[in-house]
Amino acid sequence: MKKGKKLYEGKAKIIYACSEKSLVIQHFKDDATAFNNKKKSVIDGKGILNNRISEHILTYLSQVGIKNHFVKRLNMREQIIKRVEIIPIEFIVRNVATGSLTSRLGIEDGTVLDSTLVEYCLKDDKLGDPLISREHIFAFKWATKKEIEKIDKQLLRINDFLVGMFRGIGIKLVDFKVEFGRYKFNNKNEILLADEISPDTCRLWDIQTEKKLDKDRFRKNLGNLFQAYQEVARRLGILHEQSNVRPLRYPKPKAVKNK
Ligand code: 5GP
Repeated sequence: MKKGKKLYEGKAKIIYACSEKSLVIQHFKDDATAFNNKKKSVIDGKGILNNRISEHILTYLSQVGIKNHFVKRLNMREQIIKRVEIIPIEFIVRNVATGSLTSRLGIEDGTVLDSTLVEYCLKDDKLGDPLISREHIFAFKWATKKEIEKIDKQLLRINDFLVGMFRGIGIKLVDFKVEFGRYKFNNKNEILLADEISPDTCRLWDIQTEKKLDKDRFRKNLGNLFQAYQEVARRLGILHEQSNVRPLRYPKPKAVKNK
């Protein structure tokens, strides 16, 4: 598969064209951003872990019938995915109140929700990804009623699967964000789960200690983000040895002594 030109660069990923028109290459960067790009850093090795974790989760979701864009991992940082037209909505699924839900509505942090809550946000960095209603989605034709009905059903299935998968490794799935895309191929028009599912896009708390194992470590300056993502990967069975993926550290060049 030949890598073509850069098609799009986002905050954490780059999309490249490839020789097959219906596919693209998704490259995971080490960049970490928060608060609408106001806080930025580079976490060595984060992209490698997210590439592996997202591959793992999307492969399992595909096996339980959730159609998604993942095709194949190419290397440490890149995967082949189906080329979709991203629906400009961030779909947020919540099991426990935290983050923007608590700050917006004054709900106590950590409140377990009686039933899963789905929220829609417009995918627009300049506007700060504002919360929108279904009526906004239909009024401004960001997606059709049929598409949203289909996606809503999938969100609950994805949540059920992920809650169970993470519970099995001692992790509480607090909330997550997913995106969907329209895939046109051979006269077929499908809605596919797209983007990524990783500790960048989920809130993951250790069940016993409530230790945060996700991007909140960066947002809240808790440190050890790489180690937390590594812990998630290790518990998922992706990293069999601690030494499998390490943050890249470039040794300082040795000073050359003048003879
Ligand atoms: P909140 O609305 O509480 O900030 O986020 C809810 C969930 O969606 C969290 O798991 C958070 O990581 C995820 N999320 C919301 N917006 C974004 C975004 O723009 N980028 C990423 N990576 N995750 C997001």
